[in-house]
Amino acid sequence: MTDQAVAERLRGMEQVLSQEDLPVEAERCFYCYDAPCTQACPAEIDIPAFIRALAVEQPERAADIILRENPLGMSCARVCPVETLCENVCVRLTDAGGAVRIGLLQRAAMAAWTPRAKERPHPLGQRVAVVGAGPAGMTAARLLAEAGVQVTVSDAAGHPGGLNETGIAAYKMLDDAAQKEASWLLDHPSIEFVRGIALGSDFTLASLRQQYRAVILAIGLAGQRQLRIPGEDLPGVLAAVPFIAAMRRGEAVPVGKKVAVIGGGMTAIDIAIQIRLLGAEEVHICYRRGIEDMGASAHERQLAQAQGVLIHPGLRPLEVRQAADGGLELIMEPLRAGAEGAWIPAGKPECWQVDQIFTAIGQCLDRGAWVEDAELMSLALDAHGKIAVDDAGRSSLPDVWAVGDCAGRSSDLTVQAVADAKRAVVSILSDWKQEAA
Ligand code: SF4
Repeated sequence: MTDQAVAERLRGMEQVLSQEDLPVEAERCFYCYDAPCTQACPAEIDIPAFIRALAVEQPERAADIILRENPLGMSCARVCPVETLCENVCVRLTDAGGAVRIGLLQRAAMAAWTPRAKERPHPLGQRVAVVGAGPAGMTAARLLAEAGVQVTVSDAAGHPGGLNETGIAAYKMLDDAAQKEASWLLDHPSIEFVRGIALGSDFTLASLRQQYRAVILAIGLAGQRQLRIPGEDLPGVLAAVPFIAAMRRGEAVPVGKKVAVIGGGMTAIDIAIQIRLLGAEEVHICYRRGIEDMGASAHERQLAQAQGVLIHPGLRPLEVRQAADGGLELIMEPLRAGAEGAWIPAGKPECWQVDQIFTAIGQCLDRGAWVEDAELMSLALDAHGKIAVDDAGRSSLPDVWAVGDCAGRSSDLTVQAVADAKRAVVSILSDWKQEAA
């Protein structure tokens, strides 16, 4: 398939409101008092206020209202599972037209927004180090800078953006949206961005704690969870996130004809749709539990099915073998729901002939580079192997916060990373206020 054909397919997945539909949709909002949609938004965007601004043809003001609570308003308008958050509780959900299409309205508002230079705030005379320039790190850095804090952001990669830049399928982030947003977020006179250096190998947590009043770890999850089955290291068995990252970097990626995706979350849906758009003839998502247990929302599943992706609940991979024809044999065990939520074997294992397998079963902290850093290794971890934090995001070290995917309390949503970062910034600033009182 040519690059142009792929680009047209990606563009075909784009959802936008037409200029005619936008005011009609905005007028459907009841502008509820104590709006349930705002309460369901992890970033607490004042949804009725921004929709009202759109209804009176003030899209820039609508965008300002969004950005006031969510600096990542542009990417969240593209990747938020609104059907499980704000739109799921909209009071118009059961009306004939369904929930107000908040996600598309937010996207329209952000499309009309242009960055403006902000006045430099009164400096607080404090410095904070933010490690990691993904959604959580960029949000924390921007909010701290707007509060007058001098911030140094570092990232092991050569560019900012984190998973927004590399881990979200291209069809959701057209027009370099993530790059543009990252550039705006870090373009602040109080933010210094240092690229290509990694915590643990290029500098230590102890050195940061000596130089800065507070440290925010927003290092994400760089390790890939393993299936722990024989044959998972065979050529053709690939982790979904690095594959998406390579594709987003513009690298040539292999595309199988018959592809199996193991997993049930949004990454499984993303890679399934993406590989189908790239030309795979058959794509199967295999998930070990029931369809209603999948992390991907019903809307995401429908998007995948509309692209011809087949979803199979109740299947567990047992083994991958090299087939005689050079392809792969994926041995799958059928499962059925048993007592107390357990899934139990329900028949003989099946042998699937495929030529590419993607694993999308989650990520984990990669602590390989931490071993030389005693303070990093001293951080308490939670039962899931993430950095343990309290409700404000504070780790077991009093001047170190952890936000986003690397921290115990977060889900893997971009909007949750924003919410984590907001809480940590509030906590840091309130600590300083109390100390000064
Ligand atoms: S719940 Fe629905 S109708 Fe009410 S403010 Fe939110 S979007 Fe508007």
